[in-house]
Amino acid sequence: MPLCYLVWIVIVLLFNIAELIHFNLQLWYTLPILLQEMILMFNNIDLFTQALGIEDPWKLDKIDFNKKDGRLDIHISHKRGSKFPCPECGKKPPIHDTKERTWRHLNFFQYRAYIHAKMPRTKCTEHGVLQVKAPWAEPGSGFTMLF
Ligand SMILES: [Zn+2]
Repeated sequence: MPLCYLVWIVIVLLFNIAELIHFNLQLWYTLPILLQEMILMFNNIDLFTQALGIEDPWKLDKIDFNKKDGRLDIHISHKRGSKFPCPECGKKPPIHDTKERTWRHLNFFQYRAYIHAKMPRTKCTEHGVLQVKAPWAEPGSGFTMLF
């Protein structure tokens, strides 16, 4: 009877060790994949920033890729504290407010691509509140210049 008990404890212990090793292996397999995905994501942001010609003070925040819906959503914002020229005189007045806008961009392979950006409006002492021009689109257009 005590021997049976001992054997049982050894078996349970072995199972636990096996489980632990398995878990560790899983972790070792998952970690590089996660890292790779993170690197890919960063590289994509770099790639898209260059491909779209996004320049300071604009920056690419994130890219959402939805395979099921067949779409790619590119989110752009501007650096905090940035100043933009008044579309009329080019002076850099303070930002009045921002408004989320969406543009249809060229397809990314078979996927529809959209650019989203919080567009600032400047408040010029001479020309009042005006929408800042997006470098990737004609004023008032819902499409990017490349579309
Ligand atoms: Zn002005």
